[in-house]
Amino acid sequence: MFDALTARLTPVLSRLRGRGVLTEENIGEALREVRRALLEADVNVAVARTFIDRIRASAPGTGITRGVGAGQQLIRIVHDELTVLLGGEPAGEIIAADSPRGRIMVVGLQGSGKTTLCGKLARRLGGPGRSVALLGLDPYRPAAGEQLLRLGEQLEVPAAVLDPGLDPVAEGRRRCAALEKEGAGLILIDTAGRQTVDQRLMDELAAVHETFEPLRTLLVLDAMTGQDAVRTAESFTARVPCSGAVLTKLDGDARGGAALSLRETAGVPIVYAGTGEGLDDLELFHPERMADRILGMGDVVTLVEKAAREAGGEAALAEEGERFLEGGFTLEDFRKQISRLRSMGPLSDVVGLLPGQLLGRMPDQQLDDGAFVALEAIIDSMTPEERRRPAIINASRRRRIARGSGRSVQEVNGLLKQYDMMQKMARRLKGRAGGRRGRRTIPPLA
Ligand code: GDP
Ligand code: MG
Repeated sequence: MFDALTARLTPVLSRLRGRGVLTEENIGEALREVRRALLEADVNVAVARTFIDRIRASAPGTGITRGVGAGQQLIRIVHDELTVLLGGEPAGEIIAADSPRGRIMVVGLQGSGKTTLCGKLARRLGGPGRSVALLGLDPYRPAAGEQLLRLGEQLEVPAAVLDPGLDPVAEGRRRCAALEKEGAGLILIDTAGRQTVDQRLMDELAAVHETFEPLRTLLVLDAMTGQDAVRTAESFTARVPCSGAVLTKLDGDARGGAALSLRETAGVPIVYAGTGEGLDDLELFHPERMADRILGMGDVVTLVEKAAREAGGEAALAEEGERFLEGGFTLEDFRKQISRLRSMGPLSDVVGLLPGQLLGRMPDQQLDDGAFVALEAIIDSMTPEERRRPAIINASRRRRIARGSGRSVQEVNGLLKQYDMMQKMARRLKGRAGGRRGRRTIPPLA
């Protein structure tokens, strides 16, 4: 995810990081490079220009041209502006946890991931107290209906689709009523797509929207199509009121142009990110966490959440997350997380969430389980006391651990440095964690 952009920005930022003093010239040069990186990432030209202007505007005001750690402060500003560009505050779950009824309509071009999203949403939003059902309104492609019915079977939720040629409005209404009569509370409405935006599709979607009065309408956009996704968003939002966008295939998007341009150009908030073909591969879109990832700072919060989900849900998450933020995160916890990470499926899914430094910025192809095996071996060679209080690990202990684990002293040092960095990051995150706790929803459409 965003690897190309991260790779491009990392050297620019590390040059800045070391600088105590910045001159107008330093700043100008760094910002030119940032701008070039954005354009290469397929960010909209006007958006890139505004972005740089905003950074330039905040730079002198903070006195960073003189102060100590000036480079670090400029990075901070870039980070904060990047967060704003990605949408600022996270939009939050599309419907409140306590609203059991309503309809959610999903629109987008063919192949963007609408049907898949309906399945992901059914899994995410369904559960005790909220019965979901799938309604497919594509009378043009029989395969589309079959795909939705299969998802219904797989998820064990009711699903209804249109027979070929039937009218989505008239016949769709009947199917919807039948689902509701059978007890469905939340209906996820999948709609037809085309390869490109066309008038008839827009008319049809506008009519479906008017008929079904969805609580929320989600626009699905394929992140890999870059600026095309942005243009698609502009066409759709002009005709169909959209509450938010879902960027799919972010797992395959190395550049990030769509994610970075969408809010500014189409004005629609990104609610979710699709990160794979599986039904669990859906994440809430967190602008600040994305900015962290793009700048190579890793996304430790998502990682902890993901690991905690594996470990047994919210309670574990709350406890572990809390402990992490309190700085009480020990090597014991780190060890547990590593083994959990290894059970979480393909390493490449997880590694993007780690701060680059944590794995020593290993090139992708080297990211096999070996890296984690080494970390595990080192931690296993520590005494319980050392794992709980890594501060006591002096030079002779390091040598002993290295011998015991069959790794080099440098590797042991590397791990302790990484651990230290995680602690620092925890302190940094703690400052901002307050605003993240509450769940917010998008205000209803006017
Ligand atoms: P629709 O035509 O808009 O309904 O698109 P589909 O839901 O049928 O998805 C089209 C293709 O994209 C399928 O092969 C999906 O598995 C794939 N897909 C959907 N979402 C994602 C995602 O977030 N990541 C990846 N890698 N593939 C996705
Ligand atoms: Mg479909």
